[in-house]
Amino acid sequence: MAGKIKEIQQDQYQQEVLDKKLAVLDFYSTECPPCEALAAKYEDLSYLYGDDIAFTKIFRQGNKELAAKLDVSGSPTVLFYKDGEVVGDKLSGGILRSDLMRNLDALLSEEKVKEIHGKITPKETEADVVILGGGPAGLTAGVYLAQAHVKTILVDTALPGGYVATTHQVSNYPGFIEPQPGYMLSHYMSEQAKANGVDFRAAVEVNKVDLDKKTVTIDGVETIKAKKVVIATGSRPRPLGVAGEQEYRGNGISYCATCDAKYFQDKEVVVVGGGNSAIEEALFISKFASKITIVHQFDELQANKVAQAKAKADPKIEFKLSHEPREFKKYGNMDMGVVVEDLKSGEKSEIRTNGIFVFVGFIPNLGSFEQKMNLDQWGYLDTDANMQTSIKDVYAVGDIRTKAYRQITTAVADGTIAAITISKDFA
Ligand SMILES: Cc1cc2nc3c(=O)[nH]c(=O)nc-3n(C[C@H](O)[C@H](O)[C@H](O)COP(=O)(O)OP(=O)(O)OC[C@H]3O[C@@H](n4cnc5c(N)ncnc54)[C@H](O)[C@@H]3O)c2cc1C
Repeated sequence: MAGKIKEIQQDQYQQEVLDKKLAVLDFYSTECPPCEALAAKYEDLSYLYGDDIAFTKIFRQGNKELAAKLDVSGSPTVLFYKDGEVVGDKLSGGILRSDLMRNLDALLSEEKVKEIHGKITPKETEADVVILGGGPAGLTAGVYLAQAHVKTILVDTALPGGYVATTHQVSNYPGFIEPQPGYMLSHYMSEQAKANGVDFRAAVEVNKVDLDKKTVTIDGVETIKAKKVVIATGSRPRPLGVAGEQEYRGNGISYCATCDAKYFQDKEVVVVGGGNSAIEEALFISKFASKITIVHQFDELQANKVAQAKAKADPKIEFKLSHEPREFKKYGNMDMGVVVEDLKSGEKSEIRTNGIFVFVGFIPNLGSFEQKMNLDQWGYLDTDANMQTSIKDVYAVGDIRTKAYRQITTAVADGTIAAITISKDFA
């Protein structure tokens, strides 16, 4: 068994977990990417904490009765025990090392925690290329680099897959006749990268990225030192900060008309926003939907005059100007509500609709980079035709870079171009 971890069966639960003073139990499955992401962290921590806390793991599907008894329905799930009682957080999904450590520390005395933390030794790993971000752009770069025998480590703050993993259905990625569930498409992409030899660091905390030195420090312990960096961290929709927004994101609320408008044939939708993208996307949605209500905070639209004129001439489009959304509600499949406030009267009302599109802009995920790179006016990274940024040997691919169209196909194209360019330097 790797590390100081004991694999148990449910009939050993009493003896190996409940009868121990302190214990931790990991319910795992095979062919489970988040379980793989956890395995290295769990093993590493077992060396540090394993003399004081019993580290155990159990195959969930082979021990269904115990899993059901403990209300464990997904893998991985990690439970912490003190004197035979479950304590602390029930961790699942993309589990961070810091979450594990916080719960392990909570089982121990202050002195013990100090002693254990004192034993943590920083680790340095060398690679030719480090990729930040495991969406379609980063994964494609990884596939090409690994196939060119370029030693590549891919770092993601979440589980690999990027936006595709959370997209309900993808119908415009070539090679599939039927629409693909986004999580399956992203699964194929990350498994392909892994099979070709890309080394993953998934669900990690990125502490520091030094683009001049080409170093990336993760989880406070490992510094990856590379010769080149590929930034593929994507962008995220600008949040409205409205109740229900997080909950129904991708499940009633969409941020991509190209991707989702087709599901609203002869249906009614609400579009939030009044700038260029909102109005242009509303015009695109109008090819499908029977009615579009545009909710915009100002008296006038901000979009260019041509788009405004087209929208105003479109009989399917109605406007609720000087209104802001206050809450999103879901009543059932394709049955949504938007509570809006009239900013002039303060009166609130609800618009019932089949779907909601929010177009109030995206924010590029540039957070962890210390060095200044050339950006466009919207804050996206400028690159040359080979995806090289203004810093030598630093490339940017996918949604993070300046481009007209942000799609999976354009992200994989960027990843391809950067990787082929880079691999020539390692030939
Ligand atoms: C709701 C929605 C639906 C969509 N549907 C479609 C569709 O049907 N078809 C289509 O072609 N396109 C669709 N798109 C667009 C498409 O998903 C994106 O263009 C594409 O995913 C961009 O890929 P990417 O690799 O650049 O970034 P992303 O997919 O955003 O991946 C970025 C990755 O970087 C990671 N990351 C972020 N910050 C850091 C950091 N500091 N360090 C390390 N990792 C980090 C993230 O966890 C993520 O895994 C959709 C977009 C949205 C928002």
